[in-house]
Amino acid sequence: MAFYVYKFGGTSVGSVERIKAVAEKVKAAHDAGHQIIVVVSAMSGETNRLIDLAKEMQVQPHERELDVLISTGEQVTVALLSMALHEIGCPARSFTGGQVKILTDSSYTKARIRKIDDTRIRKHLNQGEVVVVAGFQGMDEDENITTLGRGGSDTTAVALAAALHADECLIFTDVDGVYTTDPRIEPKARRLERITFEEMLEMASLGSKVLQIRSVEFAGKYNVALRVLSSFKEGCGTLITYEESTMESALVSGIAFNRDEAKLTITGVPDLPGVAYKILGPIAEANIEVDMIIQNIADDATTDFTFTVHRNDYQRAKAVLAQTCLDLGARAVTGDDTLVKVSIVGVGMRSHAGIASTMFKTLAEEGINIRMISTSEIKISVVVDEKHLEQAVQALHAAFHLDQVVATR
Ligand code: ADP
Ligand code: ASP
Ligand code: MG
Repeated sequence: MAFYVYKFGGTSVGSVERIKAVAEKVKAAHDAGHQIIVVVSAMSGETNRLIDLAKEMQVQPHERELDVLISTGEQVTVALLSMALHEIGCPARSFTGGQVKILTDSSYTKARIRKIDDTRIRKHLNQGEVVVVAGFQGMDEDENITTLGRGGSDTTAVALAAALHADECLIFTDVDGVYTTDPRIEPKARRLERITFEEMLEMASLGSKVLQIRSVEFAGKYNVALRVLSSFKEGCGTLITYEESTMESALVSGIAFNRDEAKLTITGVPDLPGVAYKILGPIAEANIEVDMIIQNIADDATTDFTFTVHRNDYQRAKAVLAQTCLDLGARAVTGDDTLVKVSIVGVGMRSHAGIASTMFKTLAEEGINIRMISTSEIKISVVVDEKHLEQAVQALHAAFHLDQVVATR
């Protein structure tokens, strides 16, 4: 007998038929004698529909009320799944995040889980019931409903697996594992048998939405065995694992991309101490997150300062920067919000030179202009025009032989 946390994403519970199919899968595991917690997302499209409704009410919806609203999607699916389980003779009980005491901080729409009280879940598991928990939501100290950010049901599942010491957390989704890149962009993408936590964390933070970043952080920190696999077809999926010295890892394991980049430049800034602070201070005060930063010094003792932000923040950041430009007596503010970031990720990069030059050569041969570059130990990111996204991903996928099984270090 084992103890599993199963998580089913929006597409997997997207219709009554699909919820019934999920119930059959869960019942089979329960009949085999396993203890099962099931975490479900809202039906596909539902969270977006609720957000759109809120925006019809208020341009910037009140965040507390927004969380009350968008947490309802998951409440629908836990109830429907429990009904489907009852219907086929499998004992089950549904809970909201608050009911099973998933305690979070109070950052509405992006709350972090602080603590989980397992008493109630344990009681029902011990009574032989399947425990069905609404993903993506929790409750703060004052019992306000909070949500965990888009894709947050992954984090609910992993956090429950960590808190209750499950044997494995299985993330069932609409792809049969983690691929070398999003198979929607590169049909030649290949499923990985295994990927390290470190690589998965980079992939997630650089735009691969197959797992929410925090779920990977949690799994790494609390040593949760985490697997991504298909709701619809059999297979062992992809295991997220620690790096083993015996593991044959590719130089590059995957390619991630992010379509939401925007770039801002302020030119002709007097090159004096404190300039970076004077430019980025007001941006931070406006609660805008900055990603890449570049500063260039010109011959005339002025500097050009460039940084990237999320596209949603572009107009606001530009307005803030226009004021800074006046305050500093700088020359001008320019920007572009039609950019994307493409990144190659791999722990094998640590011990190998020449990966960056292969990346740049490949893009050069494709005639793709690189606007910005940033590197870390296990990743290289470039910012390019959005029209080149697919071409860049596909060319890099081929250049690093990601369609072929294991090019070893
Ligand atoms: P769910 O609703 O089950 O949470 P998501 O849409 O959040 O599913 O995540 C699954 C999707 O992630 C896939 O359909 C795929 O398009 C996308 N994806 C992005 N990068 C990858 C990758 N490297 N491997 C697999 N899927 C990826
Ligand atoms: N329903 C939420 C979303 O669409 C959470 C999730 O699916 O993981 O982001
Ligand atoms: Mg998801």
